[in-house]
Amino acid sequence: MSKRVLILGSTGSIGSQALEVISEDPELEVAGLAAGANFLLLIQQARQFGVGNVAIMDENAGAKVAEALPEAAVCAGPGCIRGLIDQTDADLVLNAVVGAAGLEATLAALERGLDLALANKESLVIGGQLVTDMARRRKARILPVDSEHSAIFQCLEGQPRPERVFLTASGGPFFGMSPGQLASVTRDQALIHPRWKMGSKVTIDSATLMNKGLEVIEAHHLFKIGYDDIEVIVHPQSIVHSLVRFADGSVMAQLGLPLMKLPIAYALNYPRRRPVGMPGLDLTEKKELTFFKPDLEAFPCLELAVEAGKRGGGAPVALNAANEIAVASFLTSRVNFPGIASVVEGTLNAMDGGLPARIASFEEIEAIDAEARRHAEAFIS
Ligand code: NDP
Repeated sequence: MSKRVLILGSTGSIGSQALEVISEDPELEVAGLAAGANFLLLIQQARQFGVGNVAIMDENAGAKVAEALPEAAVCAGPGCIRGLIDQTDADLVLNAVVGAAGLEATLAALERGLDLALANKESLVIGGQLVTDMARRRKARILPVDSEHSAIFQCLEGQPRPERVFLTASGGPFFGMSPGQLASVTRDQALIHPRWKMGSKVTIDSATLMNKGLEVIEAHHLFKIGYDDIEVIVHPQSIVHSLVRFADGSVMAQLGLPLMKLPIAYALNYPRRRPVGMPGLDLTEKKELTFFKPDLEAFPCLELAVEAGKRGGGAPVALNAANEIAVASFLTSRVNFPGIASVVEGTLNAMDGGLPARIASFEEIEAIDAEARRHAEAFIS
Protein backbone atom coordinates (compact mmCIF):
# COMPACT_ATOMS: atom_id res chain seq x y z
CA MET A 1 0.00 0.00 0.00
CA SER A 2 1.37 3.42 -0.88
CA LYS A 3 2.24 6.06 1.73
CA ARG A 4 0.22 9.30 1.48
CA VAL A 5 2.37 12.39 1.96
CA LEU A 6 1.09 15.89 2.72
CA ILE A 7 3.67 18.42 1.47
CA LEU A 8 3.82 21.83 3.12
CA GLY A 9 6.00 24.33 1.23
CA SER A 10 5.59 22.36 -2.00
CA THR A 11 6.63 25.30 -4.21
CA GLY A 12 10.05 25.65 -2.57
CA SER A 13 13.36 23.90 -3.09
CA ILE A 14 12.71 21.00 -0.69
CA GLY A 15 9.03 20.75 -1.62
CA SER A 16 9.78 20.51 -5.35
CA GLN A 17 12.48 17.90 -4.80
CA ALA A 18 10.10 15.90 -2.61
CA LEU A 19 7.60 15.90 -5.48
CA GLU A 20 10.35 14.60 -7.78
CA VAL A 21 11.08 11.79 -5.31
CA ILE A 22 7.37 10.91 -5.14
CA SER A 23 6.97 11.01 -8.93
CA GLU A 24 9.73 8.40 -9.25
CA ASP A 25 8.38 6.08 -6.53
CA PRO A 26 5.10 4.19 -7.06
CA GLU A 27 4.90 3.50 -3.31
CA LEU A 28 4.53 7.20 -2.46
CA GLU A 29 1.48 9.37 -3.16
CA VAL A 30 0.70 13.09 -2.69
CA ALA A 31 -2.16 13.61 -0.24
CA GLY A 32 -2.18 17.41 -0.26
CA LEU A 33 -0.11 20.50 -1.02
CA ALA A 34 0.43 23.84 0.71
CA ALA A 35 2.35 26.92 -0.42
CA GLY A 36 2.95 30.53 0.57
CA ALA A 37 2.17 32.71 -2.45
CA ASN A 38 3.31 30.98 -5.66
CA PHE A 39 -0.17 30.04 -6.89
CA LEU A 40 0.87 29.29 -10.48
CA LEU A 41 3.31 26.57 -9.42
CA LEU A 42 0.87 25.25 -6.81
CA ILE A 43 -1.86 24.88 -9.45
CA GLN A 44 0.56 23.13 -11.80
CA GLN A 45 1.68 20.72 -9.05
CA ALA A 46 -1.92 19.96 -7.99
CA ARG A 47 -2.86 19.16 -11.62
CA GLN A 48 0.24 17.04 -12.23
CA PHE A 49 -0.30 14.92 -9.11
CA GLY A 50 -4.12 14.96 -9.20
CA VAL A 51 -4.30 16.47 -5.71
CA GLY A 52 -7.70 17.34 -4.25
CA ASN A 53 -6.59 19.16 -1.07
CA VAL A 54 -4.58 22.38 -1.29
CA ALA A 55 -3.84 25.40 0.89
CA ILE A 56 -2.19 28.72 0.17
CA MET A 57 -1.22 31.35 2.74
CA ASP A 58 -1.79 34.32 0.44
CA GLU A 59 -5.52 35.06 0.65
CA ASN A 60 -5.64 36.87 -2.71
CA ALA A 61 -4.05 33.89 -4.42
CA GLY A 62 -6.66 31.58 -2.85
CA ALA A 63 -9.43 32.69 -5.23
CA LYS A 64 -7.20 32.07 -8.26
CA VAL A 65 -6.31 28.59 -7.02
CA ALA A 66 -9.98 27.76 -6.35
CA GLU A 67 -10.96 28.96 -9.83
CA ALA A 68 -8.20 26.92 -11.51
CA LEU A 69 -8.94 23.78 -9.48
CA PRO A 70 -12.77 23.56 -9.30
CA GLU A 71 -12.69 19.93 -8.14
CA ALA A 72 -10.29 20.57 -5.26
CA ALA A 73 -10.89 21.61 -1.65
CA VAL A 74 -8.94 24.88 -1.44
CA CYS A 75 -8.31 26.88 1.70
CA ALA A 76 -6.43 30.16 1.96
CA GLY A 77 -5.15 32.63 4.52
CA PRO A 78 -3.90 32.31 8.10
CA GLY A 79 -4.76 28.98 9.69
CA CYS A 80 -5.22 27.29 6.30
CA ILE A 81 -2.32 24.87 6.78
CA ARG A 82 -3.71 23.70 10.10
CA GLY A 83 -7.06 23.18 8.36
CA LEU A 84 -5.38 21.21 5.58
CA ILE A 85 -3.58 18.97 8.09
CA ASP A 86 -6.81 18.35 10.02
CA GLN A 87 -8.86 17.52 6.91
CA THR A 88 -6.42 15.49 4.81
CA ASP A 89 -6.12 11.75 5.01
CA ALA A 90 -2.32 11.44 5.17
CA ASP A 91 0.24 9.03 6.64
CA LEU A 92 3.07 11.54 6.82
CA VAL A 93 3.49 15.32 6.72
CA LEU A 94 6.58 16.88 5.12
CA ASN A 95 7.12 20.35 6.58
CA ALA A 96 9.24 22.27 4.07
CA VAL A 97 7.92 25.74 4.90
CA VAL A 98 10.70 28.25 5.50
CA GLY A 99 11.13 30.18 8.76
CA ALA A 100 9.20 30.55 12.01
CA ALA A 101 5.95 30.26 10.00
CA GLY A 102 6.58 26.50 9.96
CA LEU A 103 6.10 25.97 13.71
CA GLU A 104 2.29 26.03 13.70
CA ALA A 105 2.22 23.31 11.02
CA THR A 106 4.75 21.19 12.91
CA LEU A 107 2.62 21.33 16.06
CA ALA A 108 -0.61 20.70 14.13
CA ALA A 109 0.80 17.60 12.41
CA LEU A 110 2.19 16.14 15.62
CA GLU A 111 -1.00 16.96 17.52
CA ARG A 112 -2.87 14.76 15.02
CA GLY A 113 -0.36 12.01 15.76
CA LEU A 114 1.02 12.09 12.21
CA ASP A 115 4.66 11.28 11.54
CA LEU A 116 6.55 14.39 10.51
CA ALA A 117 9.38 14.61 7.97
CA LEU A 118 10.93 17.85 9.18
CA ALA A 119 12.91 20.16 6.91
CA ASN A 120 11.73 23.33 8.70
CA LYS A 121 14.57 23.51 11.24
CA GLU A 122 13.15 26.73 12.68
CA SER A 123 10.34 24.67 14.30
CA LEU A 124 12.83 22.97 16.60
CA VAL A 125 14.96 26.09 17.06
CA ILE A 126 12.09 28.17 18.42
CA GLY A 127 9.74 25.50 19.75
CA GLY A 128 12.15 22.68 20.67
CA GLN A 129 10.62 21.58 23.96
CA LEU A 130 7.00 22.10 22.88
CA VAL A 131 7.59 20.18 19.66
CA THR A 132 9.40 17.20 21.17
CA ASP A 133 6.89 17.02 24.07
CA MET A 134 4.01 16.99 21.58
CA ALA A 135 5.66 14.23 19.50
CA ARG A 136 6.17 12.12 22.62
CA ARG A 137 2.62 12.64 23.90
CA ARG A 138 1.01 11.84 20.53
CA LYS A 139 3.46 9.02 19.72
CA ALA A 140 4.39 10.67 16.42
CA ARG A 141 7.86 10.37 14.94
CA ILE A 142 10.01 13.31 13.84
CA LEU A 143 12.08 12.21 10.83
CA PRO A 144 14.83 14.73 10.04
CA VAL A 145 15.22 15.94 6.46
CA ASP A 146 18.16 18.27 7.06
CA SER A 147 21.06 16.27 5.60
CA GLU A 148 23.24 16.52 8.72
CA HIS A 149 20.44 15.39 11.03
CA SER A 150 19.42 12.65 8.64
CA ALA A 151 23.06 11.49 8.74
CA ILE A 152 23.08 11.41 12.56
CA PHE A 153 19.69 9.71 12.61
CA GLN A 154 21.00 7.03 10.20
CA CYS A 155 24.22 6.55 12.23
CA LEU A 156 22.21 6.08 15.44
CA GLU A 157 19.85 3.40 14.09
CA GLY A 158 20.17 0.45 16.48
CA GLN A 159 23.04 2.12 18.36
CA PRO A 160 23.41 3.30 21.96
CA ARG A 161 23.56 7.00 22.92
CA PRO A 162 26.55 8.70 21.28
CA GLU A 163 29.19 10.41 23.37
CA ARG A 164 29.66 13.21 20.85
CA VAL A 165 28.09 14.43 17.61
CA PHE A 166 29.97 16.18 14.80
CA LEU A 167 27.90 18.37 12.48
CA THR A 168 29.63 19.10 9.19
CA ALA A 169 29.32 22.47 7.45
CA SER A 170 30.32 23.26 3.87
CA GLY A 171 31.61 26.65 5.02
CA GLY A 172 29.49 28.37 2.37
CA PRO A 173 30.73 30.62 -0.44
CA PHE A 174 32.94 32.73 1.83
CA PHE A 175 34.91 29.97 3.55
CA GLY A 176 38.46 31.18 4.30
CA MET A 177 37.67 34.90 4.01
CA SER A 178 38.74 37.40 6.69
CA PRO A 179 36.30 39.75 8.49
CA GLY A 180 37.74 42.61 6.37
CA GLN A 181 36.98 40.77 3.10
CA LEU A 182 33.49 39.87 4.28
CA ALA A 183 32.57 43.56 4.70
CA SER A 184 32.33 43.97 0.92
CA VAL A 185 30.74 40.71 -0.26
CA THR A 186 27.53 41.14 -2.24
CA ARG A 187 24.07 39.61 -2.12
CA ASP A 188 24.64 37.86 -5.45
CA GLN A 189 27.90 36.32 -4.24
CA ALA A 190 26.19 35.14 -1.04
CA LEU A 191 23.38 33.51 -3.05
CA ILE A 192 25.78 31.24 -4.94
CA HIS A 193 26.34 28.25 -2.70
CA PRO A 194 29.30 26.10 -3.73
CA ARG A 195 27.59 22.74 -3.01
CA TRP A 196 23.86 22.94 -2.36
CA LYS A 197 21.02 24.46 -4.41
CA MET A 198 18.55 25.79 -1.84
CA GLY A 199 16.02 28.56 -1.12
CA SER A 200 17.45 32.05 -0.57
CA LYS A 201 16.96 32.22 3.22
CA VAL A 202 18.86 29.01 3.99
CA THR A 203 21.51 29.90 1.38
CA ILE A 204 22.28 33.19 3.18
CA ASP A 205 22.19 31.36 6.53
CA SER A 206 24.80 28.96 5.12
CA ALA A 207 27.01 31.87 4.08
CA THR A 208 26.91 33.42 7.59
CA LEU A 209 27.10 29.99 9.35
CA MET A 210 23.87 30.92 11.15
CA ASN A 211 22.49 27.82 9.45
CA LYS A 212 24.97 25.65 11.34
CA GLY A 213 24.11 27.41 14.60
CA LEU A 214 20.41 26.70 14.00
CA GLU A 215 21.32 23.11 13.23
CA VAL A 216 23.21 22.76 16.53
CA ILE A 217 20.01 23.78 18.34
CA GLU A 218 18.00 21.42 16.12
CA ALA A 219 20.37 18.52 16.92
CA HIS A 220 20.19 19.30 20.66
CA HIS A 221 16.41 18.90 20.64
CA LEU A 222 16.15 16.04 18.15
CA PHE A 223 18.76 13.79 19.72
CA LYS A 224 18.68 15.08 23.33
CA ILE A 225 22.40 15.84 23.29
CA GLY A 226 24.03 18.53 25.44
CA TYR A 227 25.47 21.55 23.63
CA ASP A 228 28.98 20.78 24.87
CA ASP A 229 28.80 17.42 23.09
CA ILE A 230 27.93 18.88 19.68
CA GLU A 231 30.86 20.02 17.56
CA VAL A 232 30.83 21.82 14.21
CA ILE A 233 33.46 20.88 11.61
CA VAL A 234 33.87 22.64 8.27
CA HIS A 235 34.04 20.10 5.44
CA PRO A 236 33.98 21.97 2.11
CA GLN A 237 33.31 18.91 -0.09
CA SER A 238 29.97 18.16 1.68
CA ILE A 239 30.37 14.40 1.25
CA VAL A 240 30.48 13.42 4.93
CA HIS A 241 27.09 14.66 6.13
CA SER A 242 27.79 14.26 9.86
CA LEU A 243 29.40 11.86 12.35
CA VAL A 244 28.79 10.37 15.79
CA ARG A 245 31.29 9.04 18.31
CA PHE A 246 30.40 6.31 20.79
CA ALA A 247 31.75 5.53 24.28
CA ASP A 248 34.34 3.09 22.88
CA GLY A 249 35.82 5.83 20.66
CA SER A 250 34.35 4.37 17.48
CA VAL A 251 33.15 7.02 15.00
CA MET A 252 30.35 6.44 12.47
CA ALA A 253 29.59 8.74 9.56
CA GLN A 254 27.06 8.87 6.75
CA LEU A 255 28.38 9.81 3.31
CA GLY A 256 26.68 10.74 0.06
CA LEU A 257 26.66 13.21 -2.79
CA PRO A 258 25.39 16.67 -1.75
CA LEU A 259 21.87 16.14 -3.12
CA MET A 260 18.82 16.65 -0.91
CA LYS A 261 16.79 13.95 -2.67
CA LEU A 262 18.61 11.34 -0.59
CA PRO A 263 17.65 12.59 2.91
CA ILE A 264 14.18 13.56 1.62
CA ALA A 265 13.59 10.03 0.28
CA TYR A 266 14.97 8.48 3.47
CA ALA A 267 12.51 10.46 5.62
CA LEU A 268 9.54 9.81 3.30
CA ASN A 269 10.20 6.06 3.11
CA TYR A 270 11.43 5.47 6.65
CA PRO A 271 12.09 2.81 7.90
CA ARG A 272 12.64 1.40 4.39
CA ARG A 273 15.29 2.40 1.89
CA ARG A 274 14.09 2.85 -1.69
CA PRO A 275 16.08 3.54 -4.89
CA VAL A 276 16.40 7.30 -5.49
CA GLY A 277 17.89 7.18 -8.98
CA MET A 278 21.00 9.12 -8.03
CA PRO A 279 24.54 8.61 -9.30
CA GLY A 280 26.73 6.52 -6.96
CA LEU A 281 29.42 8.08 -4.80
CA ASP A 282 32.92 7.42 -6.17
CA LEU A 283 35.43 8.29 -3.45
CA THR A 284 38.42 7.61 -5.71
CA GLU A 285 37.12 10.34 -8.00
CA LYS A 286 36.64 12.78 -5.04
CA LYS A 287 40.20 12.06 -3.90
CA GLU A 288 40.27 14.58 -1.06
CA LEU A 289 38.03 15.05 1.95
CA THR A 290 39.18 17.90 4.21
CA PHE A 291 38.05 19.14 7.63
CA PHE A 292 38.63 22.46 9.45
CA LYS A 293 37.61 24.24 12.62
CA PRO A 294 35.07 27.04 11.98
CA ASP A 295 36.35 30.65 12.06
CA LEU A 296 34.18 32.18 14.79
CA GLU A 297 35.66 35.65 14.38
CA ALA A 298 34.74 35.91 10.70
CA PHE A 299 31.40 34.10 11.18
CA PRO A 300 30.02 35.24 14.58
CA CYS A 301 26.48 34.00 13.84
CA LEU A 302 27.49 30.44 14.69
CA GLU A 303 28.45 31.33 18.24
CA LEU A 304 25.49 33.71 18.67
CA ALA A 305 23.16 30.82 17.84
CA VAL A 306 24.91 28.27 20.06
CA GLU A 307 24.91 30.72 22.99
CA ALA A 308 21.19 31.42 22.47
CA GLY A 309 20.58 27.68 22.36
CA LYS A 310 22.44 27.20 25.65
CA ARG A 311 20.39 29.99 27.27
CA GLY A 312 17.24 28.34 25.98
CA GLY A 313 13.71 29.65 26.64
CA GLY A 314 13.04 32.83 24.64
CA ALA A 315 16.62 33.39 23.44
CA PRO A 316 16.52 31.10 20.35
CA VAL A 317 13.10 32.55 19.43
CA ALA A 318 14.51 36.10 19.47
CA LEU A 319 17.67 35.00 17.66
CA ASN A 320 15.68 33.32 14.89
CA ALA A 321 13.25 36.22 14.41
CA ALA A 322 16.08 38.78 14.32
CA ASN A 323 17.94 36.62 11.83
CA GLU A 324 14.88 36.35 9.54
CA ILE A 325 14.59 40.16 9.51
CA ALA A 326 18.35 40.58 9.03
CA VAL A 327 18.50 38.11 6.12
CA ALA A 328 15.48 39.71 4.40
CA SER A 329 17.18 43.12 4.87
CA PHE A 330 20.45 41.81 3.44
CA LEU A 331 18.57 40.47 0.41
CA THR A 332 17.07 43.95 -0.17
CA SER A 333 20.45 45.65 0.47
CA ARG A 334 19.36 47.37 3.70
CA VAL A 335 22.23 45.80 5.67
CA ASN A 336 25.60 44.48 4.54
CA PHE A 337 26.86 40.97 5.20
CA PRO A 338 28.49 41.60 8.63
CA GLY A 339 25.34 43.59 9.48
CA ILE A 340 23.36 40.35 9.73
CA ALA A 341 25.27 39.30 12.86
CA SER A 342 25.07 42.86 14.23
CA VAL A 343 21.27 42.92 13.90
CA VAL A 344 20.97 39.55 15.66
CA GLU A 345 23.36 40.54 18.45
CA GLY A 346 21.75 43.99 18.84
CA THR A 347 18.29 42.42 19.12
CA LEU A 348 19.41 39.86 21.70
CA ASN A 349 21.11 42.61 23.74
CA ALA A 350 18.02 44.85 23.55
CA MET A 351 15.81 42.01 24.80
CA ASP A 352 18.27 40.73 27.39
CA GLY A 353 16.63 40.31 30.77
CA GLY A 354 13.13 40.27 29.28
CA LEU A 355 13.42 36.84 27.72
CA PRO A 356 11.80 33.98 29.67
CA ALA A 357 13.99 31.04 30.73
CA ARG A 358 11.26 28.58 29.71
CA ILE A 359 8.60 28.63 27.01
CA ALA A 360 5.13 27.54 28.07
CA SER A 361 3.04 27.94 24.92
CA PHE A 362 2.88 28.60 21.18
CA GLU A 363 1.34 32.02 21.93
CA GLU A 364 4.37 32.94 24.06
CA ILE A 365 6.66 32.09 21.14
CA GLU A 366 4.53 34.23 18.83
CA ALA A 367 4.78 37.20 21.21
CA ILE A 368 8.59 36.95 21.60
CA ASP A 369 8.98 36.47 17.84
CA ALA A 370 6.93 39.63 17.14
CA GLU A 371 8.83 41.68 19.71
CA ALA A 372 12.21 40.55 18.35
CA ARG A 373 11.13 41.48 14.82
CA ARG A 374 10.26 45.00 16.07
CA HIS A 375 13.65 45.34 17.80
CA ALA A 376 15.49 44.08 14.72
CA GLU A 377 13.64 46.53 12.46
CA ALA A 378 14.38 49.40 14.87
CA PHE A 379 18.05 48.37 14.97
CA ILE A 380 18.24 48.42 11.16
CA SER A 381 16.42 51.78 10.91
P1 NDP B 1 12.25 27.86 -0.13
O1 NDP B 1 12.35 29.31 0.13
O2 NDP B 1 12.77 27.33 -1.42
O3 NDP B 1 10.72 27.40 -0.02
C1 NDP B 1 9.95 27.76 1.09
C2 NDP B 1 8.53 27.23 0.95
O4 NDP B 1 7.75 27.72 2.06
C3 NDP B 1 7.81 27.71 -0.32
O5 NDP B 1 6.95 26.69 -0.76
C4 NDP B 1 7.00 28.89 0.18
O6 NDP B 1 5.86 29.17 -0.60
C5 NDP B 1 6.58 28.38 1.54
N1 NDP B 1 6.22 29.43 2.49
C6 NDP B 1 6.90 30.55 2.77
N2 NDP B 1 6.27 31.25 3.73
C7 NDP B 1 5.15 30.56 4.04
C8 NDP B 1 4.08 30.75 4.95
N3 NDP B 1 4.01 31.84 5.74
N4 NDP B 1 3.13 29.80 5.03
C9 NDP B 1 3.17 28.72 4.22
N5 NDP B 1 4.15 28.47 3.34
C10 NDP B 1 5.12 29.40 3.25
O7 NDP B 1 12.94 27.13 1.11
P2 NDP B 1 13.71 25.74 1.14
O8 NDP B 1 12.91 24.70 0.45
O9 NDP B 1 15.11 25.94 0.75
O10 NDP B 1 13.73 25.44 2.70
C11 NDP B 1 12.58 25.03 3.40
C12 NDP B 1 12.99 24.64 4.82
O11 NDP B 1 13.88 23.52 4.73
C13 NDP B 1 13.79 25.74 5.55
O12 NDP B 1 13.47 25.69 6.91
C14 NDP B 1 15.23 25.33 5.34
O13 NDP B 1 16.08 25.77 6.38
C15 NDP B 1 15.12 23.81 5.36
N6 NDP B 1 16.17 23.13 4.62
C16 NDP B 1 16.36 23.38 3.29
C17 NDP B 1 17.35 22.72 2.58
C18 NDP B 1 17.49 22.90 1.11
O14 NDP B 1 18.34 22.22 0.49
N7 NDP B 1 16.74 23.76 0.47
C19 NDP B 1 18.27 21.80 3.26
C20 NDP B 1 17.95 21.57 4.64
C21 NDP B 1 16.95 22.23 5.29
P3 NDP B 1 5.86 30.19 -1.87
O15 NDP B 1 7.14 29.98 -2.58
O16 NDP B 1 4.66 29.74 -2.61
O17 NDP B 1 5.72 31.56 -1.31
